[in-house]
Amino acid sequence: MPAQTGPAIALSDVSKAFGATIALDSVSLTIAAGSFVALVGQSGSGKSTLLKMINRLVEPDHGSVTIDGAPVDGAAPHLLRRRIGYVFQSIGLFPHMNVAENIAIGLRIAGARDSDARVAELLMLVDLPGDVAARMPDQLSGGQRQRVGVARALATAPGCLLMDEPFGALDPVTRDELGRAVRALHDRLGLTTVMVTHDMAEALLLADRVLVMQAGRIVADAAPAALARGEGGPEAQALIAVPMRQADALEALKA
Ligand code: ADP
Ligand code: MG
Repeated sequence: MPAQTGPAIALSDVSKAFGATIALDSVSLTIAAGSFVALVGQSGSGKSTLLKMINRLVEPDHGSVTIDGAPVDGAAPHLLRRRIGYVFQSIGLFPHMNVAENIAIGLRIAGARDSDARVAELLMLVDLPGDVAARMPDQLSGGQRQRVGVARALATAPGCLLMDEPFGALDPVTRDELGRAVRALHDRLGLTTVMVTHDMAEALLLADRVLVMQAGRIVADAAPAALARGEGGPEAQALIAVPMRQADALEALKA
């Protein structure tokens, strides 16, 4: 059992428009403490906007977001972000800083002077060798870079981890390995995790709960097992059809 459990997150009637584009349309959602939620949906459906509402990279036009019942706008954003790890869409490491500096950036902002021991601990947590600390991001493989991104997100020991298509650019083997590593960290650290992905198979295999977004709304909300049984509604089933068909086709090859 983990020593702690991450916080519960709630969105209440949250809307956000960018000009004429409605990115989020009256979304209400509660995410249970300690759960691993996947957010799937087509490009432009509002996944990143929803994620960024939680750590205030985007502010709602309407509605409220709370963490363990406290409004996220009740304190300064930098204090909030210490409690919320964030793994960026795309690369996200600073190219001119070495790995140790990249990992320690949140600690520096929080006022820590000597972060070497914590960096070593974080590298171990994400299964990277200690000597990676002195390397520059362009001296790492894609998978190693994403591990550094996860280490950086966990540096301030947040209870909550937000990930925006964290494995998008990786080959399938590395992607699978890293996905399982993140799930293991989630379980071990007792995090509340929200992961955006456009890969329904990844969502089904890693998450406790899958939310499907379409045009700024949540149109499906179900557990992976229910989705695999054909439940969850037509929008979810449309996304699940491809991986299920592939799984069946692979199974058929064995016969
Ligand atoms: P997703 O992550 O699902 O691809 P986003 O949340 O990034 O979707 O975007 C939802 C919609 O809002 C899209 O139409 C996108 O173009 C628009 N959008 C997002 N951020 C901005 C922004 N900063 N300025 C203008 N439009 C934006
Ligand atoms: Mg996005």
